[in-house]
Amino acid sequence: MKFEDFALDTSIIQSLEAMGFEKPTPIQEQAIPILLDHRDIIGCAQTGTGKTAAYLLPVIQHIAQESPQHINTLIIAPTRELALQIDQQLEGFAYFTPVSSIAIYGGRDGASFEREKKALLKGADIIIATPGKFIQHLNLGYVDLSHLKHFILDEADRMLDMGFFEDIMRIASKLPKQRQTLLFSATMPPKIRTMAKKILIDPAQINIAISKPAEGVFQAAFNTFDNQKVPLIEHLLTAKQVSSVLIFCSTKRSVKQIQQALEDLKFSVSSIHSDLDQSEREKVLLGFRNRQINVLVATDIVSRGIDIEDIGLIINYDVPRDAEDYVHRIGRTARAESTGTAITLINPDDQYKFRKIEKLIGRSISKGQLPEQLGPGPRSKSNPQRPQKDNFHRSKKGPKKRS
Ligand code: AMP
Repeated sequence: MKFEDFALDTSIIQSLEAMGFEKPTPIQEQAIPILLDHRDIIGCAQTGTGKTAAYLLPVIQHIAQESPQHINTLIIAPTRELALQIDQQLEGFAYFTPVSSIAIYGGRDGASFEREKKALLKGADIIIATPGKFIQHLNLGYVDLSHLKHFILDEADRMLDMGFFEDIMRIASKLPKQRQTLLFSATMPPKIRTMAKKILIDPAQINIAISKPAEGVFQAAFNTFDNQKVPLIEHLLTAKQVSSVLIFCSTKRSVKQIQQALEDLKFSVSSIHSDLDQSEREKVLLGFRNRQINVLVATDIVSRGIDIEDIGLIINYDVPRDAEDYVHRIGRTARAESTGTAITLINPDDQYKFRKIEKLIGRSISKGQLPEQLGPGPRSKSNPQRPQKDNFHRSKKGPKKRS
């Protein structure tokens, strides 16, 4: 199948060519015709499947055909990073069209708020917003949503986890009844179904690879004690020939500790966590994208939706609290059919959590043997006799160390 088969506007086809999109991904194949037909959709899809283009392309097509004068589309996303990223993808897809958009999110100065207000008053075609920030504008009374045609919830499960149910329902209550509503979520817990029943009308359902990591990710794990983790990371960074490495930690305290430890070991490293303001985060992400920084240590802030190409290695410094987060973390590598490696470090307390993850993704993940110089690691509690395979000593070169 080709994008041309959807009868999209030539300006959209032109931008897809410029962006190097050759053929639609499965979710795009399924969703685009339904959305072009103005139907509601409930889509179960993880990031990395191409869901953003799946919903943006039909919306751009509708807008290009109708030339609306008022806010036409409202996209609600859980984090500012995701909102910004959707806006960036949109800029690419809509490059040859007159479609206007603005991303609205917190953590910025008063001038940004004024800019957002101006765009809302003027009626930008597409608004991409985090729920809290959008409600702030809504409360001030100048946002006219009476002509809205598309309401899109991206990463809906994440938004509910973050406590945004009421905010979303409030936003939905301000929208015209006649509209197209799209809900995307990586998981479909009952509360998402409840929300869907309230805000969608006879939605088409699409399911793409529920909670399964992308095919190209090679997954492995090590049973370690906490004091073996930094030496093991040093070993992995040195042994694997990867120029972009993302290390996830559950707390910002451990992010800062790992960054310091790796700096002391002279790796090119930076970190991202909730203490940084938006411009600092963007600066760090840019440095990582440009390969000025080889190793990025992060909390789950970047685990959903953030699109950085060619991250060759993901290391989970700890086992994520939520099994779904594991899928999101390792989804940062092997984007759109490339390949990558995801390695999880499991301390004895986390072994139970990791078994839950293995159950969720429907397979057991091979456990590597610690390098000899680190001494023996803890035994696997479920299967103490299981031999441990070593898959990680293929290369001697690794990320640049600072001289
Ligand atoms: P998403 O799941 O929307 O976050 O998309 C993941 C990544 O895949 C992004 O970098 C997209 O630009 C890219 N992508 C989406 N659709 C396609 C496609 N049809 N061909 C090539 N790359 C794509």
